[in-house]
Amino acid sequence: MYFKSLELIGFKSFAEKTRLNFEPGVTAVVGPNGCGKSNVADSIRWVLGEQSAKSLRASSMQDVIFNGTDNKEPINYAEVSLTFDNHGRTLPIDYDEVIITRRIFRSGDTEYLLNKTPVRLKDISELLMGTGIGTESYSIIEQGKMDLILSSRPEDRRYVFEEASGITKFKSKKKEALRKLEQTDQNLLRINDIIQEVKRQISSIERQARKAEKYKIDFDKAKDLEMKLSSSEYKNLKTQEATFAVESSDAKARECDLENEVRQMSSKIANYRQSLDEINQKILEVRNSITETSGSLDMNNQKIGTDKERIEEAAAFREGLKKEISSMAEKIKLAKETVERLRAEYGAISSAKAIKEKAVLEKESFVESILKEVEDTEIRVKTCKVKMVDDLAKETRIKNELIKIGADLQN
Ligand code: ATP
Ligand code: MG
Repeated sequence: MYFKSLELIGFKSFAEKTRLNFEPGVTAVVGPNGCGKSNVADSIRWVLGEQSAKSLRASSMQDVIFNGTDNKEPINYAEVSLTFDNHGRTLPIDYDEVIITRRIFRSGDTEYLLNKTPVRLKDISELLMGTGIGTESYSIIEQGKMDLILSSRPEDRRYVFEEASGITKFKSKKKEALRKLEQTDQNLLRINDIIQEVKRQISSIERQARKAEKYKIDFDKAKDLEMKLSSSEYKNLKTQEATFAVESSDAKARECDLENEVRQMSSKIANYRQSLDEINQKILEVRNSITETSGSLDMNNQKIGTDKERIEEAAAFREGLKKEISSMAEKIKLAKETVERLRAEYGAISSAKAIKEKAVLEKESFVESILKEVEDTEIRVKTCKVKMVDDLAKETRIKNELIKIGADLQN
């Protein structure tokens, strides 16, 4: 199997698109140190699916992208395409020419293409397996690694030769087949277990089936009975339905009435609430007026006390006057009697007038003084009577006042 060409864009020191065509025979790349010879080998390792940045002499995978130089700007991606001649169908794919392409972007995204069609890394690894040019093989031997191979363990060396002779592919297929065989054995064991289990289940299911059949017969009987019961119940229910319909319409009418009543009651309640508010307001006012009235009651009680004292004084005074009047009346009576007696005496002694003129004159003056006294007494009696009338009027007025206060208190 031969490489036909290698194309690099933005890979390591290859900023520009670079194409290397390999002719039949041996191809050697010659150049001064640091010109990029090893970068060509790295690009082949990379395009074949190398995952280790260290193997590519880079610290991360993005480091393989051209980083720029003093004269050139860095590039955002690297792409390498390796073209195989597949006329001999070394690669198990029906093309005379196979192009494997790998791309990487600065974001870290990687793409693999097989004949310009996107594929997975696995597809490429499987394609190359057994050809001797996988990433794990020694077909690419780096600078200074030859010594390492020569001095490595016999098993490792064997792996190199196996890979080169194409046994690896069959070995891995054998490994896979053995794994599948073991899995099949396991599956067989599991199937035997399942068969045992299913056998157990079958006898149990048979028992269940017998039970189910009996159940079906019983069920049919029960169903028949239920049907009869249901039909009689249905008839009853139909009758009830008719009754309920009548009752329901009655209830609806009643509901209407009740709703009206509720509405009326609500409005009444609202009115009562309002009048309750008014009553509460009135109670408040009455309470205030009670407080005021009890104040004025105290004052009136005081006044009643004073008025009573005054009435008592007036009564005592009236009693005094009464006594005085009666004594005066006695005196008047006596005086009148005396006058009568004197007049009689005057008549008797008028004949002895001359003799007794002096005595008469004296007696006359005495009579006059007595009359004067009677007049005075009569005037005083009159004044007393006027005063008595005044007092009586005063007493009546006070009594009326008392009655009025009593009535106010009652209210
Ligand atoms: P030697 O003869 O010493 O083995 P060589 O020809 O193999 O040298 P390489 O090691 O292939 O040289 O190339 C090294 C060169 O590649 C260096 O000049 C380095 O600057 C350049 N180089 C490596 N990676 C990048 C990169 N990402 N971007 C730009 N240049 C790079
Ligand atoms: Mg080198």
